[in-house]
Amino acid sequence: MRKKIIAGNWKMNMTYEEGQKLTSEIVQMAKDENLDGVTLVLNPPFPHLYVVKKLIGGTSNIFVGAQNCSDKESGAYTGEVSAPILASFGVDYVIIGHSERREYFKESNELLATKVKQALAAGLTPIFCCGESLDIREAGTHEPNVKYQLTDSLFDLSAEEISKVVIAYEPIWAIGTGKTATAEQAQEMHYALRKHLASKYGKEVADSISILYGGSMKPSNAAELLSKPDVDGGLIGGASLKSRDFIDIAK
Ligand code: PGA
Repeated sequence: MRKKIIAGNWKMNMTYEEGQKLTSEIVQMAKDENLDGVTLVLNPPFPHLYVVKKLIGGTSNIFVGAQNCSDKESGAYTGEVSAPILASFGVDYVIIGHSERREYFKESNELLATKVKQALAAGLTPIFCCGESLDIREAGTHEPNVKYQLTDSLFDLSAEEISKVVIAYEPIWAIGTGKTATAEQAQEMHYALRKHLASKYGKEVADSISILYGGSMKPSNAAELLSKPDVDGGLIGGASLKSRDFIDIAK
């Protein structure tokens, strides 16, 4: 059975107080509404990580994740945060290769491969993001394009390593636009990615990897997207900033 994961990507939002309030509400609602069967991951900006971790306390199905990590292990890299530092603060997950990092910070497939390795070496679970732009979708080359992102950044990993990675398919044209991929479009891509993983690592390994969908997921469209056999969860941006919406998606 693959893990069902609902991860919230707060991006560059939330002050200290707002973050505490959001986290406390999510922890309480997840308890009250019996969400034990779903793994929830909160990915706040770096300064929040320690407090969010404390507020989650011993809640066994809620985890904390960062939104990025360095490709270096330690040293003179002003402004960077390494995977071992994150791990030492009790961080469990790290988003790697979000399209905003690829676009605004020019992160390449090669760099992301190194970040994934750093995360795994530190014992973090990478949430590796991939997805195509609108141009590529319209040209009809989205499947090879996204498969290539996996090949280029992940296929140097061993079977044991890739089994620890979570993949998030996020079509760029659906992120923050209110435009969601249809459940059929999501399923088609998730199925293609799983087959691609199977071609390299075998069916058993491919079947064990959680593939999340991201891009304008919200309570009103989550049930349909998540009903698809290869959609194992969601990476939620905007709707993760409201406790009620985030919990309703998980439900
Ligand atoms: P969105 O963002 O839900 O606001 O579209 C998703 C993401 O960027 O991870």
